Amino acid sequence: MPITISLQLSPKQAADPRVYVPIAARRAGVSDKQVALARVVKRSVDARKTPKVNLSIELYIDAEEQPAPVHFDYPLVEGRTPVVIVGSGPAGLFAALRLIELGLRPIVLERGREVVERGRDIARINRGGGVDPDSNYAFGEGGAGTFSDGKLFTRSKKRGDYNRALQALVFHGASPEILYEAHPHIGTDRLPRIMTAIRETIRRSGGSVVFESRVTDIEVRDGRAIGVRLQSGDTLVEGAAVVIAAGHSARDIYEILHRRGVALEAKPFAMGVRIEHPQALIDSIQYHTPDGRGEYLPAAAYSLVSQEGASAAGGARGVWSFCMCPGGFIVPAMTSGDESVVNGMSPSLRNSPYANSGIVTEVRLSDFEHLRGEFGELAGLEFQRRLELLARQHGGDGQVAPAQRAADFVSARPSGTLPQTSYVPGITPSRLDEWLPPFISKALRAGITTFGRRMKGFVTNEAVVVGVESRTSTPVRIPRNAETLAHPAVANLYPAGEGAGYAGGIISAALDGERIAEAIKLSLKS
Ligand SMILES: Cc1cc2nc3c(=O)[nH]c(=O)nc-3n(C[C@H](O)[C@H](O)[C@H](O)COP(=O)(O)OP(=O)(O)OC[C@H]3O[C@@H](n4cnc5c(N)ncnc54)[C@H](O)[C@@H]3O)c2cc1C
Repeated sequence: MPITISLQLSPKQAADPRVYVPIAARRAGVSDKQVALARVVKRSVDARKTPKVNLSIELYIDAEEQPAPVHFDYPLVEGRTPVVIVGSGPAGLFAALRLIELGLRPIVLERGREVVERGRDIARINRGGGVDPDSNYAFGEGGAGTFSDGKLFTRSKKRGDYNRALQALVFHGASPEILYEAHPHIGTDRLPRIMTAIRETIRRSGGSVVFESRVTDIEVRDGRAIGVRLQSGDTLVEGAAVVIAAGHSARDIYEILHRRGVALEAKPFAMGVRIEHPQALIDSIQYHTPDGRGEYLPAAAYSLVSQEGASAAGGARGVWSFCMCPGGFIVPAMTSGDESVVNGMSPSLRNSPYANSGIVTEVRLSDFEHLRGEFGELAGLEFQRRLELLARQHGGDGQVAPAQRAADFVSARPSGTLPQTSYVPGITPSRLDEWLPPFISKALRAGITTFGRRMKGFVTNEAVVVGVESRTSTPVRIPRNAETLAHPAVANLYPAGEGAGYAGGIISAALDGERIAEAIKLSLKS
């Protein structure tokens, strides 16, 4: 058994194994020469006062057996029962990997392009050269998470499953650091090659991943899903089960299901803006260091939440920070050129001079009740779409986004000028406080004011709010049976991941994909 030692060190000490291994050995009562392997198993920053780093280190002494490197066996599944998966995001890819482990053959159909070509399409959006509706920040190989921060958090209670998903990412090229960091992230510069490695595993095992294959219909016979049809032709791609892992931006998939009479449910979701500060300002607030964070601390992050507008009559609304990206960039995450949608990403080193985060509030069923008559269960989707179109009208050509200085937004004042931003297509001054739906504007302005009381300096005109952060979660759920995980009214149809309403984030979508694969295996046995 290794000896586990917990240390609290200065950031400089914690950065150098030549320093922390001898300290850990001394604490364990052994000489550092006896240490055959020292493995960090947990690392976190404690920034409540002078920043310290907490390390948990496993020491393997002398000839003690050392842990094996992460390894997965993916058997050959050529000729085995096919399962069709719509979408190559984390839910689709992890469903495919698990199906292979279980001896089934995944056929992954992806509307977008493979990652290198997708990178070019994304560069074109940033240059203001137009949005390809099939290949953008949301669509294409690896799904919405490929060009992202790659934060790997989940609220999942199943620690074993979480660790296994992280190990699968390490097996496909992620840094082993993600296995022990308190807040692991991969970074947009490294995610694409991990997605490609997963694609290669699927193909090597006899599964398929087919790009530029937009699914335009789901074939249902006698109450069972038997396959899908593609935009490219009338061919039916058949499978023993159909997994819908198309993400929350695939509005056409919801429309197909709606048209086919497959039951869907409107659900509450969240919308708001993205706020951007100079990273140095966030560092100085979070680390209490007026001179910056120095060379050994990571770019500081924050996580904020408040309830706003409570009155005797009730009615408080949650406001929270969402997908905070230290050292990152605001990105144009729309799937169509007539929308303005922003999100955030950061590289592995988190070394841009900006810190951005979504600041969002709840959108309740009652907020889009007026659209229910015309749009039924898709009313939330329509509410979301209308706000994105409105934001585009207040922005400009070439995906220029509407923006307002943060202090001006809170005080309902126009911004004559705007600060520098990481958002490459550019921003233009706009009265977000006026044109956002009043319940959103009011909640966000109150929430940001509260955050400013908790983080002194957060509300400043050095910061800017950019519109709109509208794709946080899906406004529609595709129901599934609690036990079989299949759609309750269509046998063999398996809604999965974020778009179906069962996940929020890369890891939870991946875990949901795995669960779906296991449910399919079980159903095919019985
Ligand atoms: C810029 C950005 C940054 C993000 N940062 C983070 C982060 O740091 N950490 C985190 O946990 N989450 C982050 N997210 C959210 C995360 O990416 C999603 O939660 C996750 O990708 C959802 O996985 P999914 O597999 O359910 O769906 P998606 O990843 O959305 O994948 C769905 C796939 O289905 C494909 N598809 C859609 N319709 C069709 C069709 N008709 N036919 C064929 N294919 C179709 C799409 O092209 C897409 O590739 C970020 C998202 C964005 C956009």
